[in-house]
Amino acid sequence: MYKAEKSIVIVGGGAAGLFAAVCLKERLPLARVCVVEAGGRALSKLRLTGGGRCNLTHTFEAVEALGEVYPRGERLLRKLFYRFGPQDTWRWFEERGLRLYAQSDGRVFPRSDRADEVADLLLLLARERGVELCEGTRVERIERSDAGWRACLAGGRRVEADAVLVATGGSPRREALERLLEDLPVELVAPVPSLFAFNVADGGLRALSGTTLADARLRLAGTKWQARGALLLTHFGLSGPAVLRLSSYAARHLAEAAYRAPLLVNWLPDEAPESLAPRLRALLDREGAKQLSSVRPEGLNTRLWLHLLERSGLDARGKCAEVSRKQLNGLVTTLTQDEYLITGRAPHKDEFVTCGGVSLKSLQAQTLEVRSCPGLYVAGEALDVDAVTGGFNLQAAWTTAYVCAESIIERFTQPLTSITPTP
Ligand SMILES: Cc1cc2nc3c(=O)[nH]c(=O)nc-3n(C[C@H](O)[C@H](O)[C@H](O)COP(=O)(O)OP(=O)(O)OC[C@H]3O[C@@H](n4cnc5c(N)ncnc54)[C@H](O)[C@@H]3O)c2cc1C
Repeated sequence: MYKAEKSIVIVGGGAAGLFAAVCLKERLPLARVCVVEAGGRALSKLRLTGGGRCNLTHTFEAVEALGEVYPRGERLLRKLFYRFGPQDTWRWFEERGLRLYAQSDGRVFPRSDRADEVADLLLLLARERGVELCEGTRVERIERSDAGWRACLAGGRRVEADAVLVATGGSPRREALERLLEDLPVELVAPVPSLFAFNVADGGLRALSGTTLADARLRLAGTKWQARGALLLTHFGLSGPAVLRLSSYAARHLAEAAYRAPLLVNWLPDEAPESLAPRLRALLDREGAKQLSSVRPEGLNTRLWLHLLERSGLDARGKCAEVSRKQLNGLVTTLTQDEYLITGRAPHKDEFVTCGGVSLKSLQAQTLEVRSCPGLYVAGEALDVDAVTGGFNLQAAWTTAYVCAESIIERFTQPLTSITPTP
């Protein structure tokens, strides 16, 4: 049995913080669980997720290895998904009245397609179970105290707690976490943005704004970083799943390069480079008398084809049969290794997460408790864990929040003698 007056402070009223609070109060109804949220309203970001629909998890059916979707945190999540994985998320929400559905691409949404419904449910559960919610109040610092832990709130208020859960989400500002955890043995991995579109300095490409490609392969020249998927040409440069994926995996590389990097686009990723030249030659010979503008490889629309001909130095009005061997080789290079310069991060309104945060090395992997800080836990995007788009980021938040809640419950329900004393 645990003492009724056990008290837990959760720093951050986002997805991870509220989820952990509800899990805690369901199992420890007598404990005092207080969520402190700096913003005016808890869960305000959750209401914006998935374009207002909240892509709250993924079926993972087509995901062969977690490393395909989690550039950071894959190994940790592989362990933790056994404790609380995507199916548990589905069950957890449905058992509490939220009906879900999965799209054919595996992304999971509430049946209502309303993120508000997810946020309202979590807030209702929190209220019904007696979670204290303190909105509009920032926790400035977490420090050790005689009782265990102390949260120092803006305005000078202090809250004593037996356990503290840091669920402050991601932020590209390192100082935010540094100040909060000052003097505590917590290693931070410098936070940088992830999941962003690319500004590209090429008027010809920008003029194709609105063009979408079902499949392209992108590579940062001279690096191992590459990604494949749908591509969207915009008024600022490039966006779409392939770009977001590349920005996620190469987040740190791009930050170090100050978001200026040469990008190679393969417009025909299914074509093996060695067979593309003979296939194009055969096509051009077959259509010999036609203008180049009217003969294009499958998968490219006319506007994009004209742009690529121009980049290859070919006259679109020239005859197919007149393309020399050298010109053909140039065209193949443009089709498979078309080089552009990324000149910056472009705004991407749908999803934006942080790469970096609390280093996983600072934590006990099984409990997410900070090493040598018994009673201090970290969950959600504050961890150095993040994913590509598809519901994987929120799944990481639910999983890590659940594991922290379970760890705190275990800590409080162990026989008192076996609890590690807080130094
Ligand atoms: C526009 C957008 C759309 C997204 N859509 C999706 C999606 O559909 N699917 C998906 O899987 N992921 C999505 N994500 C990512 C997902 O929202 C996050 O990964 C997830 O919210 C992380 O949860 P969290 O609780 O760790 O952090 P957050 O949800 O960011 O919550 C952290 C909270 O802590 C508060 N806080 C911070 N510091 C303090 C402090 N010192 N004191 C008190 N409070 C503090 C913040 O105000 C915030 O409310 C999206 C992100 C964005 C920005």
